[in-house]
Amino acid sequence: MPVFSHAENFNHEQVVYCRNDDVGLRAIIAIHDTTLGPALGGCRFYDYASEADAVRDVLRLSRGMTYKAACAGLNLGGGKAVILGDPKKDKTEALMRAFGMFVDSLGGRYITAEDSGTSVADMDYISAETDHVCGLSAASGGSGDPSPVTAWGVFHGIRAACDEVFGSTELEGKKVAIQGIGNVGRWLVKYLTDEGAQTFITDIDEQRLQAISTEFGSEVVSTDAIYDVDADVFAPCAMGAVINDDTIGRLKGPIVAGGANNQLDNMARHGAILRDRKILYAPDYVINAGGLINVYAELNKSPREKALRDAEHIFETLKSIFATARERNITTAVAANLVAESRISSIGKLASFQKAGTRIR
Ligand code: NAD
Repeated sequence: MPVFSHAENFNHEQVVYCRNDDVGLRAIIAIHDTTLGPALGGCRFYDYASEADAVRDVLRLSRGMTYKAACAGLNLGGGKAVILGDPKKDKTEALMRAFGMFVDSLGGRYITAEDSGTSVADMDYISAETDHVCGLSAASGGSGDPSPVTAWGVFHGIRAACDEVFGSTELEGKKVAIQGIGNVGRWLVKYLTDEGAQTFITDIDEQRLQAISTEFGSEVVSTDAIYDVDADVFAPCAMGAVINDDTIGRLKGPIVAGGANNQLDNMARHGAILRDRKILYAPDYVINAGGLINVYAELNKSPREKALRDAEHIFETLKSIFATARERNITTAVAANLVAESRISSIGKLASFQKAGTRIR
């Protein structure tokens, strides 16, 4: 397997292979870029089919974190970690703490957090070995569940998309189809309902569907029919790759804006098809940055209210991305990447200025 020339290696600064046979730990930490600050990104615990898959995943995800933090205006770089194994069978306190020791050995260049396969309780174990962990339980001094902040950012992103498409942020009477009403989706239903929007919901969890429908008056649709709802906004809040060759032609409304990660099966191709069909896409890593904004607030010991206020800036960020895409005739996904790269590049120049001994302030 190529290392420095790996297809997913976009000038990653550091990739660390972590191994402790006594506790069965095999993990990889990838630090993509620390121009803006320490590399922050979750720790995924997953039973990869091969080591090559794990390497590809950690390289790709860590780069994504660089862009997410840059667009959100945070002073954070991008990193990610993967632990190889089945979390249900292989996870132990000792293994998580051994991973925490490796994180600590990086001296703060990488800060870890929760991701799929790891929990708030695991972060508490890691915190026994290192300070460079966030997303701790509220009982351990952490910020707790980030979902209300993520959904708040998505809500403001939907307002920005409506402003772009309809010339107004007004949500009264707007129809929003929400795929997945888990932690993020159900908060989104609440925020939208409070503003008078009409919500259509789907989920594989029937009980949850009925409860949310009763509480907020949402209309329930089947998991497949969600793509056909004649709504103003389609909000994916469950899995990735839901905008694909099978679904893209079925979307009726002019906006795709939701909290799920990696919504486009193929960023370049499906981004272009959405643009050609005059469907405005709010890039996922921009609109769902509320979770990252929340842990950043935790790191800075700021209260939840500050995280919520900061998540509201997603409105302006998206407006400027939409404008860039319109003016340059590029997809919103490409425009978001440009905004991130431009910030990293300008702050990078600032850093070399400082290294040269020039006083900035
Ligand atoms: P969650 O697991 O709480 O909710 C996901 C929901 O989707 C569940 O209710 C699940 O039953 C439902 N679901 C699964 N498969 C489905 C299907 N085929 N059709 C319809 N519904 C289905 O997860 P979450 O924390 O709400 O996160 C949702 C998405 O947002 C994920 O992609 C996650 O990566 C992303 N995200 C979450 C946060 C956060 O703060 N929680 C932050 C950024 C991004």
